Amino acid sequence: MSQILVIGSANADHVMKFEYLPAAGQTLMSRDYRLEQGGKGANQAVACARLAKSGTRTDFICHLGQDSIGDDMRQSWIKDGISTEGISQIAEQSTGTAMIFIGDNGENTIGVAAGANATLSPDDLENHYALFSRAQFLLIQLETPAATVAKALQMAKTFGVTTVLNPAPATALGHDVLKWVDVITPNETEAEALTGVEINHLDDAQMAAQLLHQQGVGIVVITLGSRGAYISSPGFTGLVPALEVQAIDTVAAGDTFNGALVVGLSEGMSIAAAVGFANAASAITVTRQGAQRAIPYRQELSY
Ligand code: ADP
Repeated sequence: MSQILVIGSANADHVMKFEYLPAAGQTLMSRDYRLEQGGKGANQAVACARLAKSGTRTDFICHLGQDSIGDDMRQSWIKDGISTEGISQIAEQSTGTAMIFIGDNGENTIGVAAGANATLSPDDLENHYALFSRAQFLLIQLETPAATVAKALQMAKTFGVTTVLNPAPATALGHDVLKWVDVITPNETEAEALTGVEINHLDDAQMAAQLLHQQGVGIVVITLGSRGAYISSPGFTGLVPALEVQAIDTVAAGDTFNGALVVGLSEGMSIAAAVGFANAASAITVTRQGAQRAIPYRQELSY
């Protein structure tokens, strides 16, 4: 049985839409309100579970609050087939929360409370040796405390697990972390934050990839939005174009891409084939509103 371990954040996104953003001291009625289940870790775990063939197990290590939104998230992940052994609800913590205000002109303001996400410590990972020892792949992002990310990558390498780091949101990383990373998947902004190279052309992507290879990363995949993704790897180097679709909401596109990429690799696809699969999956996500609810199921793809 193939086993994928995802570690990361879960957030409840409270999204309100306004004609214009309220100014300091102002109270405005919103046009629309939605509560979305999001957070990069949770989105990627959902993508893995929905896109994997039956027989693949997706584990998710995350901290939720002991609140009703945490209960709801856990229930909906069970329906998606995520194994719950790694999910803890932490007393006196709230589930990670984002308050997102969007104006008609597309402007937004966002406040985030990390809540329980911030309590996932390096020591907590020690309770999950069994999950690390069973996994073939680890998928992790940067919405979890930096010391926990470093420890997870190091532990994974000790167990011979292939590590995939989605370095989002954009942050500079210590060199010592990248030596434990087998595959890195920045978007253009994140690639620039990691390497200082502004990505305008494919030459820039190759230059950024080279700098990441020099720090020990074997496979670099830079996602380029509607252009697709650029791969720099021993087996294949070049652009794998995106599918042409009518995009209406790109939230969770990158998360779908990362989940699908790991599912593809876990099925023995080449890196180019796995990126093609990831492009196909995230092309569906961008045609739908929302975060987790936009992520497709395997049967929606002709793979
Ligand atoms: P992020 O969402 O992390 O910023 P990208 O914008 O690079 O990442 O998107 C991730 C992937 O989603 C892309 O590599 C591509 O496969 C797919 N994608 C994003 N936007 C579109 C689009 N407009 N049309 C088709 N595919 C898209």
